[in-house]
Amino acid sequence: FIVQGDDNSYGFTEEETEKIKVTGEKFEFQTEVSRLMKLIINSLYKTREIFLRELISNASDAIDKIRFLSLTDPNALEGAPTLNITIWADKQNKILTIADSGIGMTKKQLIENLGTIAKSGTSEFLNTFEENKADMNLIGQFGVGFYSVFLVADKVIVTTKNNNEDKQYIWESSAVNDFTIAEDPRGNTLGRGTQIKLFLKDDALEFLEDSTLRGLILKYSEFINFPIWLWTTQS
Ligand code: ADP
Ligand code: MG
Repeated sequence: FIVQGDDNSYGFTEEETEKIKVTGEKFEFQTEVSRLMKLIINSLYKTREIFLRELISNASDAIDKIRFLSLTDPNALEGAPTLNITIWADKQNKILTIADSGIGMTKKQLIENLGTIAKSGTSEFLNTFEENKADMNLIGQFGVGFYSVFLVADKVIVTTKNNNEDKQYIWESSAVNDFTIAEDPRGNTLGRGTQIKLFLKDDALEFLEDSTLRGLILKYSEFINFPIWLWTTQS
């Protein structure tokens, strides 16, 4: 396939970028979250591809949640009726995008889930590994989750829309100390769900290759009950 523009347009106009700068709020990562990110980046570089497992599993969880809600609220699906996961590889811009039409996140959830509230048990977990340099396989088992994106990306933009919010929000971070959250100046482009754009590191461009992505998606989609669409560019 050759995909251009439209759904996969990643950029913001200058005006939109300016709006994000003016309206965006900065948040510091919680200490545990920063520590977890460092640990992931320093210890899992040999199995970097797990980031895709984590993103597919999050997307699938999010779709499960909206499907469950739709059992009692038939209008729940209105914003985006088709339940699926879409992956775009944009070689020209070195961007890998994973999108789902799942439940999406409210602004509050976005702030808490992606940066300010660490999962329970994270502290104990970090103490074990930072002190002992114990078995790295266990780190994978802990389910390192979303932050594994920084194994392959130096910048990440999450766009999300939940039914309980009128607005769509964007989360942006380069994993240093903080992240920014802003109202999306483009309006509600998703209908509902979450889109995650990974600005890939120069040494992670293999994750834009059709064959690499196909292999990983097959490997990680065994227990996923929704269609996964893969779009790749030829050059
Ligand atoms: P876990 O999946 O084990 O809870 P993660 O770090 O993978 O941990 O994700 C943290 C939280 O962020 C999730 O529990 C979920 O609430 C939220 N989240 C992550 N990805 C998505 C997504 N695609 N759609 C909706 N919520 C998401
Ligand atoms: Mg997860």
